[in-house]
Amino acid sequence: MLPPDLPVPLALLIVSCAVTLIVALRYVLSSGLFAFITARVRPGLYAGRGQQIMREVRWSMLSAAIYGTPAGIVLWGWQHHGWTMITVDFAALPWWYHPLSVLIYLAVQDTCFYWAHRWMHQPRWFRIAHGVHHQSRPPTAWTAMSFHPIEAVTGAVVVPLLVFFVPINIAMLGLVLTVATVMGVTNHMGWEMFPRWVVHSPLGKWLITASHHERHHEEYGCNFGLYFRVWDRVCGTDKGLSQRIVAAAGHGCEAAV
Ligand SMILES: [Zn+2]
Ligand SMILES: [Zn+2]
Repeated sequence: MLPPDLPVPLALLIVSCAVTLIVALRYVLSSGLFAFITARVRPGLYAGRGQQIMREVRWSMLSAAIYGTPAGIVLWGWQHHGWTMITVDFAALPWWYHPLSVLIYLAVQDTCFYWAHRWMHQPRWFRIAHGVHHQSRPPTAWTAMSFHPIEAVTGAVVVPLLVFFVPINIAMLGLVLTVATVMGVTNHMGWEMFPRWVVHSPLGKWLITASHHERHHEEYGCNFGLYFRVWDRVCGTDKGLSQRIVAAAGHGCEAAV
């Protein structure tokens, strides 16, 4: 913990730098792990993509600072001033609320992402910001945080704001961040890791995995969601799955819906 007499700006700088480092490390470890697995299960998939991956890592490091700053400030306020509705004691919230809180966080993140993403596909904002993410053609496990700073801000503020309004246990918050990390990386890695019985189950048809997000990177004007296909289905922007990913996974083209 930081000394209590440390000037506030310096304390905020130290905490933000520390959280930035953690976010950057989380990115390198998670993307590195799935890139390593990709090299084993799909040898050569990233062959000749060294330059693209270096560019993705550079943008992602900048995104780490943009994610780390608001998270660091909120973390400091939680520790020193009791900000936020984050709880440590598991019994402080009813048992049934814990899974519900995870769902609420994911649903709000998904909603914010869907609409910000659609907004950033307008030609002007695509040119200024979102084009950076789509420079990865096709994406890799390293594309997960490859965003222009403007786009990174729209993603970085959601959870730090949500913790002020929606109570959540620290372990459930960790689960939300783990889901965000794993799905962010695996949805871009260029192959489907989930088995057919998950992707093509009645529940799977409402979830976004690599098969779904890859189609966004192939066609741009569809499949804008983050975790769930609800907004895409409601707004008529769901075009189904990437034929290439479905075929490569051996899931059968007839199942690409
Ligand atoms: Zn993407
Ligand atoms: Zn996009």
